[in-house]
Amino acid sequence: MEILKGIGVSPGVAMSTAIVLDVEDLAVQPRQVPPEAADAELARLDRAIADALRDIERLRDEVTQRSGREIGAIFDFHLGLLRDRSLVGQFRNEVASGHYTAEYAVNLVMKRLSATFLGMKDRYFAERVKDIYDLERRVLRHLIGQQREDLNRLSRDVIVIAHDLLPSQTAQLDRNRVRGFAVDVGGRTSHTAIVARAMSIPAVVGVGDVSKRVAPGDIILIDGTRGLVVINPNEDQLKDFDVQLERQHRIELELAQLRDLPAQTRDGHVVSLQANIEFPPEIDDAVERGAAGIGLYRTEFLYLNSEQEPTEADHYNAYVDAVRRLRGKPLVIRTLDLGADKYDPKADPATLERNPFLGDRSIRLCLHDIPMFKRQLRAILRASVAGDVRIMFPMISTLLELRQARMVLSDVMEELDDEGVKFNTDIPVGMMMEVPSAALMASVFAREVNFFSIGTNDLIQYTLAVDRTNERVAGLFNAAHPSVLLLIRDIIRAGARTQVPVSVCGEMAGEPLYTLLLLGLGLTTFSMNAPDIPEIKKIIRSTTMPHAREIARRAMGFDSERQVMHYLREETRKLVPDAF
Ligand code: PEP
Ligand code: MG
Repeated sequence: MEILKGIGVSPGVAMSTAIVLDVEDLAVQPRQVPPEAADAELARLDRAIADALRDIERLRDEVTQRSGREIGAIFDFHLGLLRDRSLVGQFRNEVASGHYTAEYAVNLVMKRLSATFLGMKDRYFAERVKDIYDLERRVLRHLIGQQREDLNRLSRDVIVIAHDLLPSQTAQLDRNRVRGFAVDVGGRTSHTAIVARAMSIPAVVGVGDVSKRVAPGDIILIDGTRGLVVINPNEDQLKDFDVQLERQHRIELELAQLRDLPAQTRDGHVVSLQANIEFPPEIDDAVERGAAGIGLYRTEFLYLNSEQEPTEADHYNAYVDAVRRLRGKPLVIRTLDLGADKYDPKADPATLERNPFLGDRSIRLCLHDIPMFKRQLRAILRASVAGDVRIMFPMISTLLELRQARMVLSDVMEELDDEGVKFNTDIPVGMMMEVPSAALMASVFAREVNFFSIGTNDLIQYTLAVDRTNERVAGLFNAAHPSVLLLIRDIIRAGARTQVPVSVCGEMAGEPLYTLLLLGLGLTTFSMNAPDIPEIKKIIRSTTMPHAREIARRAMGFDSERQVMHYLREETRKLVPDAF
């Protein structure tokens, strides 16, 4: 039994057997599988070998056609090796008798083979070592890739353990089978964490070396609330798990009863609780949990479904699908926020930026690729006749940027007009407030947009100079920092003065600790991961506006984030004792 501590990013407890994904550089760990898992492991091995053989045959044919038979023959050596019964027999033996994972079996046997070749006097054989290495990588890639792909159609319950998961991989996890996951790296607002919360999968990130400590087949207990990963739990921990699971079910049932009740304070002040989504089908669940609309649709996730750039039709179909599911409720479509920790279309290693969070991402990227930007804007405008669609630009940091984005939007409107295509000419246009330079000038920006949405994830990152995805500085990433609160307060004030509605769509909106404070600062719309809606509603329904205002006033008087958090925790617990 071993307990590892990380950052709990998606609450709840879960227990199952581990699947371990190796790191991208294919460094293979000496791991064993339980004897009863050996057959499944052999089947994986056979599949990977068959896939690798198919790969090599295709490559040989292509190369032969392009460069002649002699060059193509290089691959015959690879084919010969991988078809060699004795070699494959050795792989299988390491799995069947040694109980090693297929990856480690391949690694082990190929290492032995290269040592033999290296020891030969004949230069021809010594040089073939590179081919052995090449072949080993190819089989390993299939084994590891296979595991990654298989995660969206699993036949049994698992806990996924990995060095890291891309947001796209997390989004594709089979939510009925993946009970939880833990990864070595990451922070609370990394996209992997956000997606886990949206999917209600208990998750712990930043666990250091969990991917090295866990072996496939280990029993893993994930506590996403407390940020714990227990490897092969003992009796006491199993009992504790049962108690927690029961509590979890009880709270879920209780919160589900709030679904049809309004999100209003005891003195009748109504707020709008909306949901953040990555994919339109999530809307059904969000509405089921009481969402009054979608306050943030992260459209960059459209890139995850296709190998190529999404076409205008891909955008349009997704937006119309979303609008239909919402049946009249508002939909805020955020234009592409590509780059940094999200999907990066320039992921070519030759053009990698040293500091992607401060680089050519989001609206900057769109303004550098007008055809791509226009494709999306055309689709949004065309979808705007189908329902209450609004446009939001991400990561605006200067007025010029906002004006350029609006100019491209006007161009697109003109083009559609010329083509006789209908769209809502009064479509509301808003911007994310997530860069301090914009937050500080909120009243100036307010003259040029219809709404603001505060992206606290990036606002905190840029204000405190803390990478939101880096577990080493996760302790410094804090929404309660007085500087962050001042920026939020001033944006809300600027909005109130100029009658520009303000919402918060960063993770802070769904954290019960900040509900009373945000309400008291005058926030009218909260947009969050759908599973958080019931709890936030419960807190809102437990207070009055004068009380929330008083709490906000006191909280703004502290000069350290610790004091703010302590105070808010105490006050929230007075109203809702089982909050957090
Ligand atoms: C934010 O930055 O707070 C936000 C909501 O946007 P994202 O998390 O997609 O960057
Ligand atoms: Mg952001």
